Amino acid sequence: MNEQTSKLPKVGTTIFTVMSKMAADHGAINLSQGFPNFPVDSVLQDLLAEKAKEQVHQYAPMAGNPELLNEISKLTEQQYGRVTHPSSEILVTAGATQAIFAAIQALVRSGEEVLILDPCYDCYESPVVLTGAIPVHLPLKDDFSPDWELIDQKVSPRTRLIIINNPHNPSGKVLDEQDIDRLESILIKHPHLLLLSDEVYEYITFEKKHISINSRPKIREKSIIISSFGKTFHITGWKIGYLIAPETLMIEIKKVHQFLVFCVNSPAQATLAAYLKVTDASLLGSFYQQKRDTFRKLIASSRFELLPSEGSYFQLASYSKISEENDVDFCKNLVTQHGVAAIPLSVFNDDHLDRKLIRFCFAKDDQTLTQAAERLCKI
Ligand code: PMP
Ligand code: GLN
Repeated sequence: MNEQTSKLPKVGTTIFTVMSKMAADHGAINLSQGFPNFPVDSVLQDLLAEKAKEQVHQYAPMAGNPELLNEISKLTEQQYGRVTHPSSEILVTAGATQAIFAAIQALVRSGEEVLILDPCYDCYESPVVLTGAIPVHLPLKDDFSPDWELIDQKVSPRTRLIIINNPHNPSGKVLDEQDIDRLESILIKHPHLLLLSDEVYEYITFEKKHISINSRPKIREKSIIISSFGKTFHITGWKIGYLIAPETLMIEIKKVHQFLVFCVNSPAQATLAAYLKVTDASLLGSFYQQKRDTFRKLIASSRFELLPSEGSYFQLASYSKISEENDVDFCKNLVTQHGVAAIPLSVFNDDHLDRKLIRFCFAKDDQTLTQAAERLCKI
């Protein structure tokens, strides 16, 4: 289909698919696409095997397995002090991606504007374009914190939604309390404006604690908050997550959800309901902090300059002392000549701004990180 007839003319194959394929084709160490390469908890594997022998193979209720909805509600209260009604304010989704798609389709109309802060993860823009709405890309500051002055200026009566991602992919930035305060005042000032808060890395923060919108009573009533079990339990391939929203918004989101997927994988839901009773998601931060520290130490003597990583499982590095190439070419050469795959940052920018930065994923076993670092230190 050509540019005139495609509904998504700017979209090609995602960089994550491209780089993972290049890594496989060249036998390179894959620190590009974000996914863990170590085994998942054996308790979770055993529960999955156990549940597979039970009556869990038919459609689940549309909004989610009631036991799982209850466990999510308990977790949300424990972690963030928010009391949610499991059957009216929580929706189990086929990953965060489907949650985001359903929420945007349900709540944003043709001609309305959606504020997206660049660099940003790739699954926000297309659902906006498909509704006939207008994505308005605003740059984050150089340290990847939001420019609240600019955001405030750009909110108009046409602006329906602002999307934030905290902790942030690709930068690993975690928002400060002052950021959340500024966001709160903007949302209160503009009654028509909704917030989509992508918090898939909510449990992966290091020195700084993540502040969830779930803990902000003044704005959670106009927010859709997105979580992903893929990130929290190292099971990205299960494609299961959830969203929390007030009932008035949820009624509309469920209308889309029921025709997008109707319901989500039953064995996975039953397994996670049981696993949530015996696991502690809040240990994830220290687990990944160790990986971050290991990786940073291992490449400290390289010519890459490391930026801060406050959360998520990503580490940004500048290669400006190594090469003047653009970041896409640099990443291609990194795979073919040095055997390590990373993600160029410019692909996260609508205007493809190239700051000579690349993203490494450190959700890998220590042997992989060590081997990758040996190669990176030789460049
Ligand atoms: N948002 C962000 C910021 C992500 O990094 C990802 C993951 N890859 C997603 C959403 C999508 O998550 P899921 O795999 O649960 O659909
Ligand atoms: N979120 C993952 C990343 O940022 C990629 C997931 C995907 O490939 N869709 O690397």
